[in-house]
Parts: sequence; structure tokens; C-alpha cells
Amino acid sequence: MKDNMIKCKDLTFEYSQNNENEVKKLAIDGVNLEISKGEFVVVLGHNGSGKSTLAKHMNALLLPSSGKVYVEGLDTTEQNNVWNIRNKAGMVFQNPDNQIVATIVEDDVAFGPENLGIDPIEIRKRVDESLKKVGMYEYRSHAPHLLSGGQKQRIAIAGILAMRPDCIIFDEPTAMLDPSGRKEVIQTIKNINKKYGITIVLITHYMEEAVEADRIVIMDKGKVLKEGTPIQIFSDVDMMKSVGLDVPQVTELAFELKKSGINIDCDILTIDEMVNALCQLK
Ligand code: ADP
Ligand code: MG
Repeated sequence: MKDNMIKCKDLTFEYSQNNENEVKKLAIDGVNLEISKGEFVVVLGHNGSGKSTLAKHMNALLLPSSGKVYVEGLDTTEQNNVWNIRNKAGMVFQNPDNQIVATIVEDDVAFGPENLGIDPIEIRKRVDESLKKVGMYEYRSHAPHLLSGGQKQRIAIAGILAMRPDCIIFDEPTAMLDPSGRKEVIQTIKNINKKYGITIVLITHYMEEAVEADRIVIMDKGKVLKEGTPIQIFSDVDMMKSVGLDVPQVTELAFELKKSGINIDCDILTIDEMVNALCQLK
């Protein structure tokens, strides 16, 4: 049994809305979830299902209304833990422009470790190393605002890597990017997981991105509706449709073929797998 990176126990969160009746909005409703060290977990769910609220609990940006969140065993509600938790679990958001603070790439990447009070020689080392990990080292003296969206997100990722986190939580990091930017960011995320063992929690709307995960968690109305491997999740086409989500196109095609009486597996996630399955039909 692997160690937990993140553990949510009976997590509930309500936003208090500032109106006369003190109406509260229940955004997370009794979530139990464990994420192991080194795991690549994708979180899917319709708009408003609580994904971003859940993500913000994973590095103590939000604190539970009830229940607990532990990051490497540290309780997020203990004030003394917050600094450590933020260093262990970094976050990358949707809009790269909101995450860039400096006018030169390497200064931007250095910003996090500078705030940690790290020695300048060590910072230099970390900045170079992080830029190399995201394939942006050649751009170290460029101006970030001139880069493409995908490159800006890779700079944002380098900035987090420079803090040497054990886990990175991505909240729709590709939502504002064009297809090529999306590809380079997902490749970077996969790489830092597989090569450097960093635990990844990725929130996305793109099913092709979810196919790559070790495990998928489906959120619906503030609850975890289902979790499983990509095959377990996507072969349940009815469940996915019931919460307003799509499955990868080839999976849907397999499902439709099966419904019309063709003997084909429904656990097809990629075009290659579909081609294989079709070629084996008798
Ligand atoms: P998702 O990321 O899955 O779209 P969110 O976590 O952003 O979902 O939102 C979950 C629920 O909480 C939604 O109903 C949303 O309207 C509500 N919510 C989100 N942020 C706030 C806020 N700052 N104040 C009040 N309600 C909020
Ligand atoms: Mg969101």
C-alpha cells in the first residue's frame, strides 16, 4: 500500500453568501478521497460540480467547513502546517497571464523560491533545473508576455517546480490554450509525473487528457460519484452521459457499434485500439 499524498475525510465545504438570509452554498458534500504518492489522477465533472473548490482544499487555499484534508499527513486546518503544505502541494490555474509576475522568464521562475528565503546560489540552480524540466531553458531571458499560451503555462509550471513540490494540482491548465499549446502542456505534465515522480491532480474538460490518467474521479453536485481507471470510467457511457460528460469519441463509437449488435469491446480509448478491434472483427 502506497503512502497517501492527499487524503480528504468526510470533507464538506459551504460558501457563505453575503445576503440577508445568510444562505449557504454547499459546494463539497461529504467527499472521501485518497491520492497516493506518484499517482496521476484526473478529476472530471460538469461546471459547478465542486472541482475547483476541492482543488483549493488540497493546498489549504480553502479550509473545510467540516471534515479534514491531510497533505502528506499534515492537517490543513492547523495554522502551523499551512506553510509546509503550500510547499509540498503547488497549484497551477487556468489563466497563465494571472500567474506571471516578472518581466523576464527566469525572474518569474525565481519568484517562488525567493519568497521561501532560499540562498541565491541554490535559487539559480533550481531555476535552471526547473526550466530544463519543462523544456523552456532556452527562453530563460525572454519576456514572458511575448510567449505563446502553452509556453506561459510551462513557465508557470517551472515556477512551481522551483519550490520542489511533491504534488501539483492543475485546475483546467489547458482551458485557454489552442490545440498545440494543450498538447505541450499535457506532455509536460505527464513528463514531470513519469520522470520525476511528482503526484498530479489534473482537473480538465478534455477527455483525451483524462485517458492518460492512472485514475479518474467523477464529481457531481459536490460528491464523488465514481472513481476508477480510464477504462472503468469511460466504458460506463450511461453514467458519463447522466452527469453531462462525454466519453472519448472512439469509446462512444464502440458503444454505439455494440448497441447495434456488433461484437466489439467497449473498453476502447484510443484510435489505435479501435483500429485493432475493427481489424479483428469476423
Ligand atoms: P467547478 O470547478 O466544478 O466548476 P466550483 O468548485 O467552482 O465548481 O463550484 C462549486 C459550487 O460552488 C458551484 O455551485 C458554484 O456556484 C459555487 N461557488 C463557487 N465559488 C463560489 C464563491 N466564491 N461563492 C459562492 N459560491 C461559489
Ligand atoms: Mg472550476
